[in-house]
Amino acid sequence: MRRCAAGSLIGMTLPTRDTTVTYPAGETSGASTIAHIEERGDGSVAVILDTTCAHPVDPSWPDQGADRGTLTIGGEARELRDVLVGAIHEGMLYLGNEVPVRTGTEGWVFVVAHVIDGPAPELGAEALVEVDAAYRFSLSAAHTACHLAALALDEALAEFWTKSAPLDALGSPAFDRLAIQSSRIAPLVSEDTYRLGKSLRKKGLPASAFDDPDTIAEHVNERLAQWLASGAGVRIEADGGDLSGRRHWVCDLPEGDVSLPCGGTHVTSLSQLSAAVVDFGVSGEGNTREVLMTTRVTVVE
Ligand SMILES: [Zn+2]
Repeated sequence: MRRCAAGSLIGMTLPTRDTTVTYPAGETSGASTIAHIEERGDGSVAVILDTTCAHPVDPSWPDQGADRGTLTIGGEARELRDVLVGAIHEGMLYLGNEVPVRTGTEGWVFVVAHVIDGPAPELGAEALVEVDAAYRFSLSAAHTACHLAALALDEALAEFWTKSAPLDALGSPAFDRLAIQSSRIAPLVSEDTYRLGKSLRKKGLPASAFDDPDTIAEHVNERLAQWLASGAGVRIEADGGDLSGRRHWVCDLPEGDVSLPCGGTHVTSLSQLSAAVVDFGVSGEGNTREVLMTTRVTVVE
């Protein structure tokens, strides 16, 4: 079969609309029709469905990794090797790290690609997606705790700002948003990396704000304990079901509803978490520092 540059099969129609995703609503299984198949050079096959509950890793902000699970086609369950974002434009399909634009870019179609071992299944066949619900829950717990820790960190650093800065959802200077370099959500743990350098100093936060990371951790952990004790509800608000649609994480904290843009999955109540504790690793000296915040969460059994 002939291929064009990005590997799309010529003669096969590419999807013209986003994959509908049900993981923001907490779904972990569901059946759908195979809309497109992409045979890859390594013998694996990327399967695109009309609808899926499988969370893909987003190449433009790869904080929460892909779900684990199976794709059952014709009674045969095949392991998901990976779940990627695919982007379609002008007859070309790009997968995962090949995607040249941010998810949600106007004029592009965004799809979820389920990577399985070959042979390729039949186009139009029905496929059942079943996600490992326990693994998903451990990522959801870490992701919810990660957002709470970021808000608590903003609050703990508020006193160090020397100029007025953009504010976060709770009214503190938005350190997390302004300084974050990367975020990684793993089962029951998240790692957020922040950079304090020249640009943040110009905005009003000197690197010396992290001279005493233990005191900041104490402040963050105290606030996290209070929030978890509140048992606040957590939900995802979505503009429809399209993969690239806008979604927000909303938590009804005692201080009021807080809302953050988020494409991941979450618990439904803080009462599902029994503890969330951060610690900091600070590297670099003087005017430039890199700060790693590790948030570990335990869940109610
Ligand atoms: Zn998020």
